[in-house]
Amino acid sequence: MDAAVDASTSQFELNEDQRAIQEMAEAFAADRVAPNALDWDRNKHFPADVIRETGPLGLGGIYISDDVGGSALGRLDAVLIFEALSRADPAFSSFISIHNMVASMIDRFGSNEQRRRFLPKLTSMEWLASYCLTEPGSGSDAAALKTRAVKGGGDYVLNGVKQFISGAGDSDIYIVMARTSADGPKGISTFVVPKDAPGLSFGANEHKMGWHMQSTRQVIFEDCKVPAQNLLSVEGAGFGIAMAGLDGGRLNIAACSLGGAQSALDKALAYTAERKAFGSKINQFQALQFKLADMETELQAARIFLYAAASKLDRNAPDASKWSAMAKRFVTDIGFNVANDALQLHGGYGYLHDYGIEKLVRDLRVHQILEGTNEIMRVIIARALIGR
Ligand SMILES: Cc1cc2nc3c(=O)[nH]c(=O)nc-3n(C[C@H](O)[C@H](O)[C@H](O)COP(=O)(O)OP(=O)(O)OC[C@H]3O[C@@H](n4cnc5c(N)ncnc54)[C@H](O)[C@@H]3O)c2cc1C
Repeated sequence: MDAAVDASTSQFELNEDQRAIQEMAEAFAADRVAPNALDWDRNKHFPADVIRETGPLGLGGIYISDDVGGSALGRLDAVLIFEALSRADPAFSSFISIHNMVASMIDRFGSNEQRRRFLPKLTSMEWLASYCLTEPGSGSDAAALKTRAVKGGGDYVLNGVKQFISGAGDSDIYIVMARTSADGPKGISTFVVPKDAPGLSFGANEHKMGWHMQSTRQVIFEDCKVPAQNLLSVEGAGFGIAMAGLDGGRLNIAACSLGGAQSALDKALAYTAERKAFGSKINQFQALQFKLADMETELQAARIFLYAAASKLDRNAPDASKWSAMAKRFVTDIGFNVANDALQLHGGYGYLHDYGIEKLVRDLRVHQILEGTNEIMRVIIARALIGR
């Protein structure tokens, strides 16, 4: 563990278990993820085998109950894990984050029968999971979704299209928000849809700026039959379930930005200590020293803020949602800026794939957009401050 991370975590007096969890995730990331991250990115390779290796380490169900194979850890523990993984590859870490978000929704809102049916295979990572909320016509305004689920006999029949779904086509389980009545957000229900459900198909893998190691596809429902036993909770509860999943998901995504940005700062420190211009190491120019000082300050502020927000969620604090939104907005903005500054400090070499910096900038950019854009985070924060 490097001094930068160690010094900041002491603010939160991490206990021995938390340090052990952090070190375990760092060791796995350094050994199995970091050496491959650039290849996965270049070849758009989804490393299902390495993702599945995280199951036995307890990372398939980080904050899932232990009776179904989860690790029953807290949200701060999870943040430490995602931060550590994303120092090796934010895109890899983000996929594990989405998988955990889906598993936690089933753990929290599923019946005991559903928990036992789905969670042991999700926590072990035998099955991988995706989250399907966004549609071509509704992203930020998620409650305007149009995918329909109509009950007939012992099944629901789903029709509609989900857009931008991470892991689509590779995942085994899809948690899907669909409309069971016309009643706005109260007409939305949540279904667990297995990959082999009749009438389920996937669009082409999108060509995108970053996150190349995971697919992003449409998920298409054409008279897709899902057994009624796959409805989570009750009809109409789906929007609340979707938003509850995102509260924690937002902290995880912020942690992925934090780890990626820390990696960028570490690379910039090493590079500026070696690179020479005008007869001296470039880290001797005060303008660049000030830049590095600002990057460190902002990243440490982001880290402390994120850990505080995670502690709020662990304690079920009444303002935990507002803190999750503030942390997501703040940490993903800082993370992107730090990575972008690190690219600038590398000069032209920062623009080359082999230096690993441009990948970080590309990967971190989308964290400002998904799991609620940073504008929507401001909407949530402002509502909490001043009411609707
Ligand atoms: C790589 C990638 C992976 C993704 N993975 C998933 C996934 O796995 N599952 C899933 O369900 N979704 C996923 N998404 C979708 C993502 O969550 C949406 O793209 C995001 O919520 C924004 O929705 P939109 O793209 O429709 O933009 P829009 O909602 O159309 O927004 C366009 C712009 O308007 C702004 N805006 C909208 N409303 C307001 C407002 N009230 N006030 C101020 N500004 C506003 C937005 O902030 C944005 O800048 C993914 C997206 C990407 C790019």
